[in-house]
Amino acid sequence: MHDTIIVGAGPVGSYLAEKLARHGHRLLVLEKKPDIGEEVCCTGIVGKECLDLLSIDKNLILNKANSAIFITASGKSLRLWRNEDVAYILDRPALNRALAQRARTAGATYCLQTQVTNIQHDSNRVCVHASQQGKPESFEAQTAVVATGFGSPLPAMLGLGKINDSIIGAQAKVQVKGIDEVELYLDHKLAPDGFAWLVPTKDGKGLAGMMTRQQPKKHLRQLLTSLKAQGKITSEDAPCGYGVIPLLPLPRTYANRILAVGEVAGQVKPTTGGGIYYGLLCADIAADTLSRALATNDFSASLLASYQKQWQAKLKRELSIGYLAHRMFRDLGNKQLEMLLNFANSFSIPKLITESRDFSFDWHGRLILNILRQLILGFPAQGIASFSKQPKKHNQTIPI
Ligand SMILES: Cc1cc2nc3c(=O)[nH]c(=O)nc-3n(C[C@H](O)[C@H](O)[C@H](O)COP(=O)(O)OP(=O)(O)OC[C@H]3O[C@@H](n4cnc5c(N)ncnc54)[C@H](O)[C@@H]3O)c2cc1C
Repeated sequence: MHDTIIVGAGPVGSYLAEKLARHGHRLLVLEKKPDIGEEVCCTGIVGKECLDLLSIDKNLILNKANSAIFITASGKSLRLWRNEDVAYILDRPALNRALAQRARTAGATYCLQTQVTNIQHDSNRVCVHASQQGKPESFEAQTAVVATGFGSPLPAMLGLGKINDSIIGAQAKVQVKGIDEVELYLDHKLAPDGFAWLVPTKDGKGLAGMMTRQQPKKHLRQLLTSLKAQGKITSEDAPCGYGVIPLLPLPRTYANRILAVGEVAGQVKPTTGGGIYYGLLCADIAADTLSRALATNDFSASLLASYQKQWQAKLKRELSIGYLAHRMFRDLGNKQLEMLLNFANSFSIPKLITESRDFSFDWHGRLILNILRQLILGFPAQGIASFSKQPKKHNQTIPI
């Protein structure tokens, strides 16, 4: 019998598998795709803290960024920069493969083309049911971790509840022309409720994408058409990918013998949709908790609850402030976005970001509160009034 079965060979699942295997535990990772890193839809931007935690080969870094330009619908822009590199754009499929390889080297076993359909647990073990290339198969272990990314039915089947708010990430692989820094488009006609981006990667390639709630296919096409018309990309005919990003955490991330970790648990920055770093931080906590459970032979929900307590202690405040900021941002119309950019330009917001010690690529809470404070103190009364208009109504179901 295995000590732990991890469902999902994304960055979080493989990082956790390596940690546990290094502690000498018998690890099995089940992945539904035939190849690790296949069809990953992600920009792969992480901050320095995440890069340090990953400690990966530098070849996986496609590009570095120390600046970004925010551009509104009317073409007004605001450039933010810092003296040192702030973000790293990673080769996401290669990252998945590298982390899986490290876990294998540490002793973990991988089964690909194995889609987990159910997990049952009793007082002696977990039984993981899967479809392996169409044939039913089951695996036994002391514990199981759900690391499937967002959208899996497993959390609900396990009584962990469900995430009630999410947004769609849509992205295309493009060839860029004359773009050497990250561009972010604040235009709610182009990317309703979210924002769009163009990120140069390597060798003239780049990623154009957006977070939006409405018709991502149509809006991504419009973004590509607009970028092509501006001469920023060479062709609007680009391969596209889509993924749903949770904006809230899963209500419960543990049960008897079971944990949920990473994007499936909603351990994602609601401001940017970035989930790699927070997922890894929570995987570290999960590894410690599971090691303790395996060492003491105590797999009870009450012991595993300490995982949720610890990750919430680390992230809950960030997730709550980030979600509040997301909700305020999504309710702004394009006029208000223009006003916000003007305000940022004329007050000290760029300085707050480029020079402040509060700035962190991964921890936004303090900066958000600081900006809100500046807004309240500095924004003309008429501006404040227009920011507190009735919020727009939101559709929770979005056709792609
Ligand atoms: C357009 C877009 C851009 C993004 N950009 C960034 C970014 O720049 N930076 C950042 O930090 N984050 C970004 N994200 C989010 C990031 O991709 C995720 O947060 C991250 O991949 C989560 O890792 P994970 O290991 O938890 O899940 P995943 O990476 O989703 O891995 C889960 C794995 O589980 C497998 N799986 C699922 N169900 C089953 C099953 N039943 N049985 C077996 N296997 C299963 C899947 O095939 C997959 O391989 C972006 C997301 C999108 C959509």
